[in-house]
This record gives sequence, structure tokens and C-alpha cells, in this order.
Amino acid sequence: MWKNDGKNSMVNDMTQITLSVVEDWLDSHPDYCQDYFLRKIELDFINKWLVSHGFLNINDYISSATSPSSSGNVSPANGLVATPSTGTSPNNTPSILVNGGNNSLSVSQMYRSNSKRCRRHDFARAKTRSVLRTQEIGKDVPICSSRRSSLKDMRKFTSLPPSPISMLSLLIDSKVRLPRWPVPAHSADAKRDLRRTQGERDFFLTAVRDIATDLDLKSLSHKIVDNLTVLLDCDAGSLFLVDGPPRGSMRRRLVSKVFDVHSGARGRFLLPDNVPRDAGDSAAAADNEVQIPWGVGILGHVASTGETVNLDVACEDPRFDDEVDRIMGYYTSSLLCMPVKNSYEDIIAVAQINNKNPDKDDGHFTSMDEKLFETYLQFVGIAITNAQIVEDSRAEYDRNRNLLEVVHDLFEEQTSIDKVIMKIMQRAQRLLKCERAAVLLVDESCDSTRFSKLFDLNSPKHTKNSVKNSRQKVEGENVSRYLESLAERVACSGEVLNINEHDCNEGIVDSGINSLLAMPIRNKNDQIIGVASIINKLNSLPFDEYDEQLFEAFTIFCGLGIHNTLMYSEVEKAMARQKVSIEVLSYHATASNKEVERILGMPVPAVDSLNLYSLAFDDFSLNDDEMLMAAVSMFLELGLVKTFNIEKETLYRFLITVKRNYRDVPYHNWRHAFNVAQVMFAIMMGCDMKNTFSDLEVLGMFVGCLCHDLDHRGTNNSFQEKARSALVLLYGTTNTMEHHHFNHAVMILSSENLNIFSSLSAESFSTVMKVLKHSILATDLCMYFQLRNKFFRLIESKEYSWDEDSQRYLLMAMLMTSSDLAASTKQWHVQQRAARLVTDEFIEQGDKERFELKIQPQALMDRERQHELPQLQIRWIADICLPLYQSLGQMNPKLNVMKEGALSNMQQWSKLVDENYKNANHEQK
Ligand SMILES: [Zn+2]
Repeated sequence: MWKNDGKNSMVNDMTQITLSVVEDWLDSHPDYCQDYFLRKIELDFINKWLVSHGFLNINDYISSATSPSSSGNVSPANGLVATPSTGTSPNNTPSILVNGGNNSLSVSQMYRSNSKRCRRHDFARAKTRSVLRTQEIGKDVPICSSRRSSLKDMRKFTSLPPSPISMLSLLIDSKVRLPRWPVPAHSADAKRDLRRTQGERDFFLTAVRDIATDLDLKSLSHKIVDNLTVLLDCDAGSLFLVDGPPRGSMRRRLVSKVFDVHSGARGRFLLPDNVPRDAGDSAAAADNEVQIPWGVGILGHVASTGETVNLDVACEDPRFDDEVDRIMGYYTSSLLCMPVKNSYEDIIAVAQINNKNPDKDDGHFTSMDEKLFETYLQFVGIAITNAQIVEDSRAEYDRNRNLLEVVHDLFEEQTSIDKVIMKIMQRAQRLLKCERAAVLLVDESCDSTRFSKLFDLNSPKHTKNSVKNSRQKVEGENVSRYLESLAERVACSGEVLNINEHDCNEGIVDSGINSLLAMPIRNKNDQIIGVASIINKLNSLPFDEYDEQLFEAFTIFCGLGIHNTLMYSEVEKAMARQKVSIEVLSYHATASNKEVERILGMPVPAVDSLNLYSLAFDDFSLNDDEMLMAAVSMFLELGLVKTFNIEKETLYRFLITVKRNYRDVPYHNWRHAFNVAQVMFAIMMGCDMKNTFSDLEVLGMFVGCLCHDLDHRGTNNSFQEKARSALVLLYGTTNTMEHHHFNHAVMILSSENLNIFSSLSAESFSTVMKVLKHSILATDLCMYFQLRNKFFRLIESKEYSWDEDSQRYLLMAMLMTSSDLAASTKQWHVQQRAARLVTDEFIEQGDKERFELKIQPQALMDRERQHELPQLQIRWIADICLPLYQSLGQMNPKLNVMKEGALSNMQQWSKLVDENYKNANHEQK
């Protein structure tokens, strides 16, 4: 029907064409392809891919990483095998033989590691890594840049910003490149043919070369067994590696990586009935590892004694344990078993060959065979040693990588102890492959060892089983109590407990603990703050030295994590405390409504009635209230209230608050601030300088004068530095106090009902704040010394232009200093009184330096040298004040009053010097 529909068939055709075109296009654009999949792919899709390539799907992998090892069925696609193309039923999947066969092997006789899944995972990871690697090798670029390029690649391929953990994992990617020779894997049959054509001697060399370049223990073992059976013309062979620590035979065992590889001499695989005899499956089955306890059977005998065992009829020998035969359903008649040694003559493996070709030597292994076997095993020893070194370094690398990831967690999570501990212990549980992990924190408020908190992590399977019924619950409580008693022991003694099944007392064996490792967690002062324990390794083995080492790293991380988190919460608390105290203080430091109301009713005095236009204004002529009202009056006169729409109440409240935030020190108090503002007012209004500046600049400078010494403590910058005061920590050593004055001003202005800048636009606001900061920082004499020569030269050259921002800002700074130092230009009685107050303040600082800081104060602060005041004042005026006032007078003759005042005061001080001199002479006579 829809063939007639032109549209539809067209769409159909297009789809046909497009699909093949698309596939071609994708093939030729791998970058785009990868990018697309990284962005679009769903987990489901990944699982399908994994399963179709013989891996576990993600969920199964996760549960397998934490599940106990009792189940023997560890086929690659466990439970998901029904991939229709292979046609095999789930029962026929290549699971290995341990529980399935009609054998009677008990667990104690033989352990099976289920690390296969993990190795599979590693293998998958190694594969992805090697993709990167080959790319890098191909480009032939140095390591650091290739590292960067892989980061770049990652950024390119992901639409999300890269997370620190993925960046980290790329950075710590191993850059060790293992040699990879293309090694053709010959089947045993092909090798047999080769032996026939090459002859025994040449085939021996081929067999040596075959194993010399293989660094993977599994495929190496496979090759060794194949080569041995061909070389010695026998039916089967096996290779068991010695595993476990060299001392303490308890934990030593023999492990075969290729247990079930039997080359069928007569083209027959000797496998039990329920295992498929498909040749393709043998490789998958070969994935399984078999362990035999130390000292069991002929293998164990050879491993522990190093003797060669050559038997014509194996079953007649009392040492013969038919473990292999029983598993394989195989009958062994002749047998040759020999140790494999490394260059230190240590036994590192045992090789065994079975059933010599019955057509040769009556099916017996001859002394020639022994000789050949021994010679080949020497090469086997070298190859195994190399492969083991590579395997160890891989494990080392993985361990370091995992530990680095824990470090990452530590830095990422510092907000709660619970989260930090859970994260670290989850990683410990995963990396150490155990059922359970627990952390107990010591309760510091208790004298006896008590624990304030218990973190208990169970692997998912364990949890499922353990909360099933009340009996088990009671058991769980018993276990908790037992754990707590062990933890108490560790917390008191600081010892590391490594307990295995045999050490556990009866009650505990019942409750399912078969191994336990407990360690103290210490803080940076080495005090024990908790105990961490891990329980039951998933492979049912006891915890070994390697586990102890690794777990110790985790407990150190735990200690660090707890420390960091406590520090973080301390900082948070300190911040909260500070916030509260600022709230409290600012309430008390702000003008109360009552106060504001009181002066709101007062009349504002006329500016000229108070002599405010004059540079000769008397600093001590007004009382506190009068100064406040005079400040209001100046604000009005400068036009600032009108121009900037300042509300009357806000202005009053602001001025009262500024006044309140000056301390009751002899000189740098509210009166000084007011006097400085008055001088600035007089310069602006009385000497026609106002039009040099914008209204915003006038506002900033005038407010700057009022605020320029806010919260002055009567001590100068160098005192702050010598005393290492908090202000230095906060603002550093340059312009310390001035930064504080400015910040204090900002704090006041940031209050809604004190903000006299509130009606300014954002732009104007930022300008006025910039001027305010510039003005206040300019009152640091250090700043003045830095700037003044530039200013003097500018005035000298008469080439100044105040329209230019930088020059105008320079002028602002100079006017701020001239206002700040103006006491030296006032009438003699004002100058004398001001000098006295400054001296009082200096002497108080000098006393603090002498008695608190234990240092000798400089002359002008030294109580003992107060009589030197006149000389010091002369130098002060001559060196610091006069040059500025001379220069300003040159610029604007109306400012010459200040220079003249300063000169006159110098004369007065010299008179005093003379008088003092006369008096001193008189006294001497
Ligand atoms: Zn000042």
C-alpha cells in the first residue's frame, strides 16, 4: 500500500541511503563519533555493549566488587548471557568447575579468588588507557605536553565542564609504557607441528623466545604450560605460582592462573562433563584462578622441598593427592614435577606435567626429559620474575591512584565529619575488598574511653542478609559490642589489631567475623581520636601486611579529614562570632534616635559666624555639639546636601555616628577630624579651590577629612607592625591604619540610615568611594613622602593642569595632608596646645613600646626626652610641613597664610629652644 505513496517510499529510500552514508561518515570521523556518544549515550546502551563484549554490566560489577566470594559462578556475563547469537544457554556458559562438578573439594582445601571481575574491570580500564597511550606514542610528544593534550582532548569531548576528579585521574594516569611485541599466540597443535618441522633443538629456542617477551602472568602461564606439554610430548601440564609472604607458611599457597588448561595430546580436552568442550571456551575458562594450600600433595611437597618428583604411576605415591584429577575428571599415570627458581634460587613456582605419550619410553619420563624440563624451567623462572615485577608495579600504581583519589575526597569534603569519614571508609572498603568497615570516634568529654559516634558501613549484600530477623539482629548487637570492646583496646593501647578466624573467640565466629583489622586514628598531636576497623575480606583470607599498610594510610587520611573539618567548623564559628559582635557593636556605635532628635532641633549656625572660612580658625573654639552643627553648616555651604540630595536626618545620624567612632585619645579624636575638615572647607571656599574639583570629588574629600582617622587607637603604623596587631594581619603593613580608617568609614556608610551617598547613581557612588579611599590613604605620611616631590616639581615647573585626572588626584592627596598637618600653621597658642596633645599620645605609645614590647621608643615618644619637644617641632615643621605649604602658596597665593603660620611657629619654637638652653646653662652655673 505504501509503495504507491511517493512520499513514503522516498523517505524509505532516503533512510536506506542515509544509513550507509552515515556509517561511512562516522567511520571517517572518529572524533565526532566519540564526542556524540559521550554526550548522548545512555547507561543502558553501555550495559549492552559491556555484555556483548563479555564484561559484566555496571550494576553487576558494582555488586561484585563488594560481594563475598563464596559463589563459584563467575562467568563473564553472569546472568545476562542470553546473547542470542552464541546460542548457548545460561547453564552452558563457561563457568568454572569448582562447585559444579561432582567433586568433594571443601573450601579449606582450595580457595578460589573472585578477583576475576575486578581484573576484568582493570583490563577494560587498561584497554581504554592503552588507547590514549598509543595515540601519545604515535604523536611522539614529551610527557608533559601529552598530558596536557589529553586534558585538552577531554575538554573537547565533553559538553560538561571536567570535574576535578576526572582531571586528576587523567593527570595521574600512568606514563610507564610497557613494551608490547606482537606475539602470535600459537595453539598447542600449531606448536606441535612446529616442533615436527623445526626439530627439537630449534623448537626449544622458539619456546624460549615465546615466553621471553610476555609480561602478562596469565598469558605467560598459558604459554608455559603449552610449551611444556609440546616440548616433553605429554598430555597435560600445570603451573602453580608461589604466593604469600616468604615467612609464615600459614599464608603461603600455590596459585595457578591457568588451572584448567590441558592440551589434549590426542586432540581431546580433559574437562568434566558439565563443561562445554568448545575450544573457544577454554580461553574464557582459563581466566579462573585456583589456589592450593601450602604443603598439600606433590605440588606442595616440591614447592616446600625443591625436590624433583618423577613418578611412573602417580597414584601409588602416598604424597599424591588427586586434587587435579578430581576436579578434571582425569586420570594421571606418569607425572614429572619440578620447582621453578628465580636468580636468587628461591622457589617461585612449581611446574608439573602429566601422562607422557605412551608410545614413547613406555610413557615414562626419562632422565633426558628431566634435563630438558629443568633447562626450560630456568627460562621460565626469568620470565615469571619479570612478569611479576610488572604486575607488582601495576598494583602499586593502582594503590597510589586510589590513595590520591582519597586525598581528592579529603579536599572536596570538609563541611561535615560524618561525610568525610563515610567517604574515606567507603573507599577503604572498596579498595581493601572487605564486607564491613566501622569507625568509632572517642568521646573527649569522658575520662574513660567512650565513643561518641559509630559509623558502620556494610557491603550491600551483607546488609541484605543481616537485618532479616530478630535473631540476627541480636547477633548484630553482639558483634557491635564485641567491636566496641576491641576498639576500646585499640584506643587505650594504640596497638594495631589484626585478628583472624583462629584468634577469634567462639561467640564471634558464630556471628560471622572471620577476620578483623583495627587501627587507631590519630590527630596531628598524635592523640588517638578514634578507631577504624575493617571486617571480613571478601576472599575470606586474613588481612595481610599489605592490607595493614594500606589501611594505615586510610586511618591517616581519616585523621586529616577530621582535623580539616574541625578547623573548618572553627573558622565558621569564628566568622559567626565576629558577625554577632559586629552587630552588637554597630548597634552601640550608631547614633540613637534620641541623640538625633536632640540635635535635629538645634539651629544650624551661619558659617562665617564661626570663622569657618578662615585658615586661622581656632581648633579649640567649639564644643562637641557646636562642632557637629558646624559640620552640618559646612555640608550645606559646600552645596553637597542639595546637589546630592542628602536627607537631613541621615546626615545628622551619620555625623553623630562618625563622632562616636572616634576614640577618646589625646589627639587623633573627633576634634582633630573636625579641624581637618574645617581646613579643607576653608581651602575650598575661602581660597577658591572648590571649582578645581567636581562636586563628587569635593564630597569625597570632605567626607574623607571627617573619616580620615576613624577608630584611631593613639598608636601609629609602625607600632601596629612591631606589636603584630590584628590590624596588620588584616590589612598588611602598608597604610595599615589608613586602610582601617577607610574600611571603618565604609562600614558606617553601609548602614541604610547612615548612607549619605544613598541617592547617588551606581557610577557616582563608585567615583565618590574611589575619592574617599584615595583621600584617606593619602593621610599616611609615607604616601605623602612618595608623592610630594612629584607635586613640588609640577608646581615648580608651573606646567600643571588640574583638568588631568592624575594631576588632580595628586593635588587632592596634597590638600588632604595640608589639612591634616594644619595645626602647625595655626596661631601659636593653638599650635602649642596641639603639639602638647600629640606629644601626650606619642608618649603613651612610647610607654607601651618600652613596657609591653620591650623596645626603646624613638625620641619624640620617649617620656625621658620630653624636654626636646621644641627642637623636634622645629624639625617636624621644617622637614615635613613647610615644604608643602611653600609649594601650595606658590600654586595659590591665598594659601600662603599657612606657610606664614608655619614659619611663625618655627620662630616661637626656636625661642623656646633658646630659653631652654639659657635655663640649662643657668642651672649649670
Ligand atoms: Zn589625622
